[in-house]
Amino acid sequence: MDMARIDADDSQSRLADILSVQRNAFLRADAPALGERQANIRKLRDAVRQQAEQIAAVIAADFGSRSAHETMVADIWPVLASARHTLKHLASWMKPKRVPAGLDLMPGRARILCQPVGIVGIISPWNYPFQLAVVPLIAALAAGNRVMLKPSELTPRTSEFLAGFLGNLFSPAKVATIIGGANVGAAFAALPFDHLFYTGSTATGRRIMRAAAENLTPVTLELGGKSPCIIGGDAILPAAAHSVAFGKLLNAGQTCVAPDYVLVPRARLETFTGLLGDAIRKLYPSLRTNPDYTAIVNERHYARVSALLEEARQRGVRVVEINPSNETLPPAGRKIVPSLLIDPPDDLAVMQDEIFGPILPIRPYDSLEEAIAFVNSRPRPLALYYFGTGEAQRDRVLNRTVSGGACVNETLMHIVAENLPFGGIGASGMGAYHGEFGFQTFSHRKGVFLQSRINGTGLLRPPFGRAANTVLKFLMSR
Ligand code: NAD
Repeated sequence: MDMARIDADDSQSRLADILSVQRNAFLRADAPALGERQANIRKLRDAVRQQAEQIAAVIAADFGSRSAHETMVADIWPVLASARHTLKHLASWMKPKRVPAGLDLMPGRARILCQPVGIVGIISPWNYPFQLAVVPLIAALAAGNRVMLKPSELTPRTSEFLAGFLGNLFSPAKVATIIGGANVGAAFAALPFDHLFYTGSTATGRRIMRAAAENLTPVTLELGGKSPCIIGGDAILPAAAHSVAFGKLLNAGQTCVAPDYVLVPRARLETFTGLLGDAIRKLYPSLRTNPDYTAIVNERHYARVSALLEEARQRGVRVVEINPSNETLPPAGRKIVPSLLIDPPDDLAVMQDEIFGPILPIRPYDSLEEAIAFVNSRPRPLALYYFGTGEAQRDRVLNRTVSGGACVNETLMHIVAENLPFGGIGASGMGAYHGEFGFQTFSHRKGVFLQSRINGTGLLRPPFGRAANTVLKFLMSR
């Protein structure tokens, strides 16, 4: 039986079969020891290193045009960084942690044991189709689990590649890749996993959580949303413009943590807009055949992003197109000219929905308080970017806004800091991973109390008498 390919018709029972193969294997064996987990990760790391160029080629084929450098920066590097960090620290993460049992339970002892939860389901999206499947996989394997992975149908070549790539490294009883679309995804999410890890849109995230609730399967939801960028009154504008331009246009804006819109002090609006144009021209001197500038993944998304622009134009919004070589971009190439929308009204779709494309609304504000209130009046974002030199204003923004993560004087880079948890809050998700946080997400922390042969708990058992009263009096007085 080919374990990796599932058709929508028979998905339910085939998926259940794979899960039961994995569960039986899990129940038959001890939790994998450190050496075995490290060997899994090393094997994966070495294969990624060896096949990095093939991975870039297959992702490029899915996108039509996807910069190979972007794939190295955003799909390969994070995977290798995660493998390196995990290999280095896994021994210490796995170590049972001794904690004081407390005076009341003396001389008993207490430990926290991290154990694999069992079988983990991972559902991944198309925008970074390798990284967003493999980084959670590394964390799940590090925690000693078995994994069923369902990559996105929107990047079918990469998903097929993943099935073959992982199939060469691991038996289907350890890692099984499931190919299929939304129907298969729905059947997948309904499986009684021990943990379900989902990266994708907020709308699908709701369905995932509903399906998981039937099995009381815990979920981690890595969702999207509109990540704001606040330019402070004292920000160094050229540096801010460069960082925003890079963060926005990486993968042509198809990044969950891309700055979605910018809030800029009214007096600095024109200067910042000009500098942003300069920065974009420098990053992408041309667009149409420039291999550095990525295309929109498919026609549906191309039409969606184009419609956002069209609506803004029709409503009379000032649109600043940054098209350095004045090229015509044929729709078949699915590249969209980076476009700055100056002060669009709030009811436009571009100010309501996650943009996920190379369009950047820039909205002026009159006071930092107003900018903070604007952010806080919307669903909690996955990331927030603040640019400024003063510490007091920076701390005010960080303190008063709630976002999954944040960067100061930079965009995107918090995602590659292995010691930082990565995840959303509210509409942008729940739970976190990366580094030890990923290990914890896929581990059960079991609290274990070890009783000592001589102990005082007998004093608290019936028949209650004077001794129990004295002990209780002591316990309750502390
Ligand atoms: P999507 O929700 O369309 O699809 C994601 C995955 O879910 C795919 O594998 C798909 O087959 C599957 N799926 C679809 N319907 C399903 C259902 N009913 N039940 C179960 N599975 C189902 O998301 P997308 O368009 O691929 O991804 C883009 C979104 O993901 C954006 O909103 C982006 O911000 C977000 N995102 C978040 C992160 C993060 O780390 N937080 C990273 C990348 C993307």
